[in-house]
Amino acid sequence: MRVNLSSSWRASLIAAFAFTLTGAELEAQRGGRGTTIGPGESCPPGTTEIRPRTCMGPEAPAPSILDYRPRSTLVVPAHPVPRAKYPVIDFHGHPRGAFESVESLATLGAELDALNVRLMISAGNTSGEALQRGVATIAASPTMKDRVRILTGIDFRNVGPGWAERAIARLEADVAAGAVGIGEIGKSFGQTIIKADGSRLALDDPDLDPIWAAAARLGLPVFIHTGDPPEFYETHDYENERWLELALFPNRYIGPDQHPTFEDLMRERDNLFRRNPRTTFVAAHMGWHANDLGRLGRMLEAMPNLYVEVGAILYDLGRQPRAAHDFFVRFQDRILFGKDSYQPVEYPYYFRVFETRDDYFDYYRDYHAFWKLYGIDLPDEVLKKVYYRNALRITPRLPQEGWPE
Ligand SMILES: [Zn+2]
Repeated sequence: MRVNLSSSWRASLIAAFAFTLTGAELEAQRGGRGTTIGPGESCPPGTTEIRPRTCMGPEAPAPSILDYRPRSTLVVPAHPVPRAKYPVIDFHGHPRGAFESVESLATLGAELDALNVRLMISAGNTSGEALQRGVATIAASPTMKDRVRILTGIDFRNVGPGWAERAIARLEADVAAGAVGIGEIGKSFGQTIIKADGSRLALDDPDLDPIWAAAARLGLPVFIHTGDPPEFYETHDYENERWLELALFPNRYIGPDQHPTFEDLMRERDNLFRRNPRTTFVAAHMGWHANDLGRLGRMLEAMPNLYVEVGAILYDLGRQPRAAHDFFVRFQDRILFGKDSYQPVEYPYYFRVFETRDDYFDYYRDYHAFWKLYGIDLPDEVLKKVYYRNALRITPRLPQEGWPE
């Protein structure tokens, strides 16, 4: 059969075969909207790659990242977990003055009951008289006396001659008053705290070794938060995963030229853990390595005195469900549940990630993560360890009775 083609049609066909251009690409080029890029190049701003190495911008104005909220059409089973399967110890609690009165404790208790959080550890560096008052209020609560415990703090200012003796005396007094551990040692430690001689107090300063030895002697876990998410130290550009957070809260930006750098802090922190092997350390936020579980796994293998807590890094666990599952199974004796910022509505996201194998569900805070979460489907024995057993084991002063087998 003979087909007549007009000359322009023929030219188009030849062009299409010669350059393997498809309809969309031809359309882009004819409209003058397409841009060709070289190998390894990215599309110019305002455009996206519609075919290999051909970029095009939308005809309609593009929404900002704040306003683009696509509705997922995925239809899959969903298993929300409003209440944890086993009782939980929140090792990273900030219950905002809840132990100032028996009444506020009762309110906290009702909220925790709904979540099956049985015990909250207040990680607010509560010391001296404030600690004594808190312990007395907790002891006076008929329903909450076994459900809140308090970590004490260390005053790291002016470390120098005589500091360790004073700090240990205060620590011993706080333990006598009811403190069950130390922390949360905040991120100013290692960054902005100055020694008596005017120098920056490094995390691994040998002058601190006596206080770490005292923590080991007294059976106190040391809960420590070091540095910030790695992206806070990177250039604040459109390739930064935390661009929105850094734009909402510009003072979180640290920048690559500031010291100590992220890696300086991590090196000093790891040296602190290694040089005090008899002291139990709990790294808050998985040491900011939840995005690199290989690195965190090597740390846990090298440092038997190290534990990690999962607060505020759920976005990293929930985007790697298989790797996170395997990591939790492998290091099931070393991971503690913690939430950090006390928002009762946010706990169920953690429970759903840990307990289910659900696909592609929302996270609670867009500026942490633009992606969805997946369940990591932990076995019951692992859940029990992460939820309460590990915290009980490393914190002998916690109420040890009445937990499930
Ligand atoms: Zn905290």
